[in-house]
Amino acid sequence: MKPVTVPFFISHQGCPHTCVFCDQRTISGANGELPTAELIRDRINLWRSSARERPLEVAFFGGTFTALPEEIQSELLAPLQPLLEAGTVDSVRISTRPDYIDADHVAWLSERGVSTIELGVQSMDDSVLAASGRGHVAAESLNAIRCIKRQGIRAGAQLMPGLPGDSPASSLASLEQVISAGVDFIRIYPTVVLQGTELARRYSAGEFMPLSLDRGVLLCALLLHRAMQAGIPVIRIGLQADHGLDAESILAGCWHPALGQLVRSQLYADLVCRFVPSGQRATVYCHPARLSDVIGVKRETLLSQLRRGVQMRVVPDAALQNEELTIQTEDSCTTYSVIADLHYSIHEV
Ligand code: SF4
Repeated sequence: MKPVTVPFFISHQGCPHTCVFCDQRTISGANGELPTAELIRDRINLWRSSARERPLEVAFFGGTFTALPEEIQSELLAPLQPLLEAGTVDSVRISTRPDYIDADHVAWLSERGVSTIELGVQSMDDSVLAASGRGHVAAESLNAIRCIKRQGIRAGAQLMPGLPGDSPASSLASLEQVISAGVDFIRIYPTVVLQGTELARRYSAGEFMPLSLDRGVLLCALLLHRAMQAGIPVIRIGLQADHGLDAESILAGCWHPALGQLVRSQLYADLVCRFVPSGQRATVYCHPARLSDVIGVKRETLLSQLRRGVQMRVVPDAALQNEELTIQTEDSCTTYSVIADLHYSIHEV
């Protein structure tokens, strides 16, 4: 059963770095204060009452958890200990930088119930990391992932396609390297230019051009497809709209409030284009959970099929897997898989 996440944003806390893209206060929508023990307990109780039977996961997002002084990390984790013992809280997740992870500290976190660590890997290309002011190298990300996995903790990687100096090939190589290193899940956050950041200055000076939305969707579709082929879940694509992001804070870049849906829709639309000749009528069956992805944001897939002369009807079919479509045309009825029957080339992005 999918856990309910109780989020705590620890904006910029503990982080001595200033990555060129980062304005943690904007991204997290938090005010920079650490949650007190009382607030942690109160919020968990509140969420517990609405979670019903679903497991509860406490997540410390943003900032750099393991760069906080150890006594503060202890203070944040302390109120969770009795709740973990009582089974009120099932798991604890933190996010941090790869260069603030070592075997001893991962063991310390594990003893205090941390079961998932998300790393801000961003890229596995050292020149991209340097151009983005990250202050760490790719080898540190590999070490961190291995450390976490050796301790039996789940490891996640956040990747940021479109950073300064990045290319589609470099983004794909980054994804493949974190998968090979053994991550359990991935988040993809295409780079956006936020007001007040160094990236905004470079953008305004004509020194940096971010991915457009269209290109970003194509690149994310390729990355998602590779992750699906490897069996690694991509649990989020694009920054969340409800965390302080709005039209005023975003200057440029690949951002849309439903970016994940745009990307998944691209995969299904490509499958339909591949197997439905133009000018035909088609009935497309999909898993009910994927209905809106197959139809597209604002019915864009249906409309784009119409533009190529395809009248497409979409019908839910619970017998299908999430990644499957059964396509019925005038001549055939066949089940295809986004994973097995689509082939992307880096040159298409
Ligand atoms: S390490 Fe994270 S919190 Fe620190 S500046 Fe970079 S993105 Fe922001």
